[in-house]
Amino acid sequence: MMRGEESRRETVSRRVILAGSALALGAAATGTVAIRARAQVKISQANAKYQDHPNGKQECDGCIQFQPPNACKIVESPINPKGWCQFFGAKS
Ligand code: SF4
Repeated sequence: MMRGEESRRETVSRRVILAGSALALGAAATGTVAIRARAQVKISQANAKYQDHPNGKQECDGCIQFQPPNACKIVESPINPKGWCQFFGAKS
């Protein structure tokens, strides 16, 4: 009888340890993703073929990547709201 209780306790303890390990691994993975996101590098203006004037009717302030007043989510800032690059994507 005692042996059965001890065995059950050991099983429960093992489950608690495994659950704790899984939580620790999950937290470590989340931390890694956050560090990668913070370390994200923007595309250089040269590689984006950025220009400080519009391309026809396309200009940064009409692009989905534009962040007022003069930044871009994917290309190095600052940028001109009236500029343009090859990654232009029209706001819908
Ligand atoms: S056109 Fe290029 S530089 Fe301008 S906001 Fe869009 S992605 Fe950024």
